[in-house]
Amino acid sequence: MNQDAHSIGLYLHIPFCSRLCHYCDFVKTARFAADDPASYVRMLKAYADAWLPVLGLKLRTVFLGGGTPSLLDEAYGPLMESLRSWLLPEAEITMEANPEHVTPERVKIWADLGINRLSLGVQSFQARGLKFLTREHSPERARDAAQLARSLIPNVNLDLIYGWQGQELSDWEADLHAATALDIQHLSLYTLTYEGRTPLARMHRRGVVDALTDERLESMYLMACDTLRAKGFEHEEVSNWHKPGFASVHNSIYWHAGSYIGLGNGAHSFLAEHGGPFGTRWSQDPNLRLMQDGQSQLVTRASLDDLLRMPGVHVETERGASEWLLETVSSGLRTGKGINVNAICARTGYNFRPRPSLDQALRQGLMQVDAAGILTLREEEWYRETGWALEVSLSFVAP
Ligand code: SF4
Repeated sequence: MNQDAHSIGLYLHIPFCSRLCHYCDFVKTARFAADDPASYVRMLKAYADAWLPVLGLKLRTVFLGGGTPSLLDEAYGPLMESLRSWLLPEAEITMEANPEHVTPERVKIWADLGINRLSLGVQSFQARGLKFLTREHSPERARDAAQLARSLIPNVNLDLIYGWQGQELSDWEADLHAATALDIQHLSLYTLTYEGRTPLARMHRRGVVDALTDERLESMYLMACDTLRAKGFEHEEVSNWHKPGFASVHNSIYWHAGSYIGLGNGAHSFLAEHGGPFGTRWSQDPNLRLMQDGQSQLVTRASLDDLLRMPGVHVETERGASEWLLETVSSGLRTGKGINVNAICARTGYNFRPRPSLDQALRQGLMQVDAAGILTLREEEWYRETGWALEVSLSFVAP
């Protein structure tokens, strides 16, 4: 077994927000005062104390995501203390933060707790963009937050969103320049999506807001590729760029079918080496009450199978080669590392017989397969991975 098989990522979901952004489809609540976030964090600690000894695996990463983890600071102390003995020495410990919560005092507390990577939800440096996205901070606050974070935290990521109504290419160019003018190590650039249940999607369906055209969005993606390459960033995944040496360890676990567990309501987990050749995937129900009800039963759960039978844990039962294949191909094709055709054939028992569309793409140089069997898409095509994933998956055929 390699080191990756002995260590996992840990995602901790903090579902509280001070108010709700209208585009957001994450599991979250604005009732954070009523729901008592400090007692929620104590509950996460109880779950971590039950899960980690049963798994017996070291933590390569910890990711506090949400929601808005930056609403809290010292409340994480006992939880982080509990995790300490499970951490690998070089573990990446990330926390998501909203710029309006970043103060010198809080940054110091987070750094003292061991947070060594801060991911700031900037979303835009344009006042018009922030207003459209219903964010609480100003462009100036976002800049100050990035600088404050870097004063004590070695690795800072900024999240930006492109595709908001009225956004011109010049606005996007200005955002890219504003971000790269700061001393940051990583950038995550996401297209605005109109997710089914969000207020923004409802407004879109009623014709109150307009989405940008696919052509405009693709131009913005290509602009980011050119601009960030010129600024010394490496392109890791369709939405993620980093300075040399600062690839996101936690996200790479997701992209390359590594093992992680998620604790907190709505969190997802995957153990690659459990339950057969295609691993075990499960999620915790978004209803917070189910987790709270289950807390008293944690002490009686002595094995992984016991924990997977906890209230609100939904294990994916119909999991076979085709599910694993589509997941592996979809996530790998969006990255510079691509997919390992030989490893996929070995794991599934399938053969790789490129369909005519793939043969043509190989001839045109849109994709390539090297001598070691690594199949990669050209960077411009990562953006169209959804179309390629099916074609590539269907090129793996049962003997
Ligand atoms: S985008 Fe972040 S701050 Fe806004 S509602 Fe979603 S989780 Fe909360």
